[in-house]
Amino acid sequence: MLYFSTRNTEKKFTFEEIILNGLAEDGGLYIPEKIPTLTVNDINRLLSYDYETIAYEIIIKFTGQTFTSDVLKKMIHDSYSSFRSDVVTPLIKIDDSLSILELFHGPTLAFKDLAMQLLSRMIEEILSRNKSKASIICATSGDTGGAAVTSFANKRNIKLFVLYPKDRISEVQRRFMSTVHADNVKVISIDGNFDDCQNIVKTLFNDREFSKKVSLTAVNSINWARIMIQIIYYFSALSQYIGEKKNINFIVPTGNFGDIFAGYIAKKMGLPIHKLVIATNINNILERCLKTGIYEVFESIQTNSPSMDIQISSNFERLLFDLLDMNSENVEKKMSDLNKYGKFELGLSEAESFKNLFDAGSLKEDETINIIKDVYEHTNNIIDPHTAIGVGVHNKNSYENSIVLSTAHAAKFPNTVEKAIGVYPELPIKSDDIYQMQENIINLKSDIDEISSYIKKNFSE
Ligand SMILES: *Cc1c(COP(=O)(O)O)cnc(C)c1O
Repeated sequence: MLYFSTRNTEKKFTFEEIILNGLAEDGGLYIPEKIPTLTVNDINRLLSYDYETIAYEIIIKFTGQTFTSDVLKKMIHDSYSSFRSDVVTPLIKIDDSLSILELFHGPTLAFKDLAMQLLSRMIEEILSRNKSKASIICATSGDTGGAAVTSFANKRNIKLFVLYPKDRISEVQRRFMSTVHADNVKVISIDGNFDDCQNIVKTLFNDREFSKKVSLTAVNSINWARIMIQIIYYFSALSQYIGEKKNINFIVPTGNFGDIFAGYIAKKMGLPIHKLVIATNINNILERCLKTGIYEVFESIQTNSPSMDIQISSNFERLLFDLLDMNSENVEKKMSDLNKYGKFELGLSEAESFKNLFDAGSLKEDETINIIKDVYEHTNNIIDPHTAIGVGVHNKNSYENSIVLSTAHAAKFPNTVEKAIGVYPELPIKSDDIYQMQENIINLKSDIDEISSYIKKNFSE
């Protein structure tokens, strides 16, 4: 299996190259040159397996010869054996039309653990056999950071720098990063918002000299390996689904369009998914784009579902590539419009295909609170604000056969949840002591020079 960039389909890359590079040199995102498809028999066979076996069967299709079968199986096992659920991502029935896929049983209670645990092992495995080192700079709106810090702590060949917007993430999110004490990890608060952090990361990547010097790689959801790993739980969800496994809608709380894009790939591989539904808060660039055909960046607004306070959905470029019939020149044009004018417009047929594949909906702040309350009163389940947005979009559209991805544990957003139901959600026992531990954070201005010199200095130490 080879890969190319959404902005240049002439040049091909191996899996090893794309997982280490993260972002393509031309600014595009890597994508497999062809998505492997499965027969109905293959799919039924996969759906009878446990999580680790499904994971192995899917990943090997994308990684080919990169890892031996034993090494890959061991990495998968080591990644998921510590999850607090035997099935890794349990599917919980809420009512006849709705189930919730719990993706928060990993070490930092967010779905990002699923990809990051395995991604970190893959990168470390490659670096150690190549006898090389790399640094990772990642921007986080809250959950990526914790998942990255926990996954990469003490990996010998990697230095990790995490940038987060100061005072814009929850205390639990911050503590999941700041209480992990490992020499190879630096947690940096930035005076700015998430888009500022993401822009700093992009600028550093585009600085060739800098990124060569510190062997920069990216583990944000622009890294294809994360998307690939997230495909697994769409299969796991259907393997647990009781009833006819047909025409299932997946409703996905969406920020950077990574998680839902994994669902789109699962569908392309042959999984019987009906609609993929984009669920967002009032930062609804994707919903607006689906409805009007115009992708236009507004100022991002702080909400009670902060992991989705995002205006530039980086992974949307991967879908755009498909909507534009894999024409990388046209992708390049749209992205340069976005850079110049803060927006681009889909053509009629592109907008039409987007609508055929996806639906979209969004919730306001008080609607989110009401859903948390409603679900608690009717089912006794405590859901987090992001999951609530998924449930709310399900209710608004009266879908049948929905699975909402539950992207975080309620205890990650305890204040909002308490406001809704009057109960303060407790952390699962294993995570409890983060409130006792010393925090370790560096504060920097949203200034490229300051940040790049900090990173250069610490990379060589
Ligand atoms: C990251 C995150 C999202 C958004 O996921 P994307 O892949 O960026 O669309 C949604 N919910 C939670 C809790 C998250 O941490």
